[in-house]
Amino acid sequence: MEVVKVDFRDTKGIPPSGLCVGVHRAGAMHRKMVQKHGNGLAVWSLRPENDFIAFKALEDEEGIRSTNDMHSIKEEKLIYGVRGAPPEVRRQAREQGLELLADATCPFVVQQEEAELELLDQGCHLVILSSRTHHGIPRLMGIATEKEREVFIVEKEEDVDDIRLTRFEPVGVIVQTTFWMESYKKIMARILERFANVRIRNTACIDSLQRLPKVEELARDVEAVVIFGWTEGMTNRMEEVAKAFNDKVYRIEKIEDLDRSWFTGMSRVGIVGANETTDERVDEAVERIKSMAA
Ligand code: SF4
Repeated sequence: MEVVKVDFRDTKGIPPSGLCVGVHRAGAMHRKMVQKHGNGLAVWSLRPENDFIAFKALEDEEGIRSTNDMHSIKEEKLIYGVRGAPPEVRRQAREQGLELLADATCPFVVQQEEAELELLDQGCHLVILSSRTHHGIPRLMGIATEKEREVFIVEKEEDVDDIRLTRFEPVGVIVQTTFWMESYKKIMARILERFANVRIRNTACIDSLQRLPKVEELARDVEAVVIFGWTEGMTNRMEEVAKAFNDKVYRIEKIEDLDRSWFTGMSRVGIVGANETTDERVDEAVERIKSMAA
């Protein structure tokens, strides 16, 4: 059986590690902080239980710890994780007098927050194209709540009909960092049909713009697709894209999740890593699939 792996090494905007720019950069920042300050560091993360493998290695070796419980941080020095921190978390940190060493929020997440503030300051009602469970939603909602504005989340075209605004009210649209452009185009067409005063900030990150078309290519080319990842954002989007072109899509969070029965009778399967899965881990999964077929 042939195993086709999506190789991101030559893809513009994706570091050779296979991680996305934001995660790669955050990992480097964490490492630098550990070297400079030693143990006693806490990373505030929206989803600490699912932090990326590069970080986990650091946690095991260096004693840096990931948490989303601000009250548990007392003696430690603080770092904000790659997915950013909502306003109330930042306020809480100031109230607790915690020392902030570094903010590893992904630059695309920061850009998205800036776009949101700009649209809110222009008096727009906010529409976010995103899944409701995306980890970025509490942060974006927190920003809008501070400005006493309502937010409408649109996952699919039909949700546009539920936006409680009239035709001429100003609508500001931002896009979840990990969003599939094909869905974006369809939803935007519907928004433009319904509203007359629309401002759009396309805040999809470079990683989703590069990674998702590769998933489509792979899904069209193989009999089954394995997606190796665990994030609500990118992994879910990759699954959405793959399922649009292939009805045999399997998702794994770790190599042990692979199941021999998925590949029975197949001659060509594909695998692709999400934004927090290193290229090395994907290689290990490829070897495991090959050994299952042997
Ligand atoms: S997937 Fe995109 S937005 Fe999310 S951390 Fe990576 S580069 Fe940043």
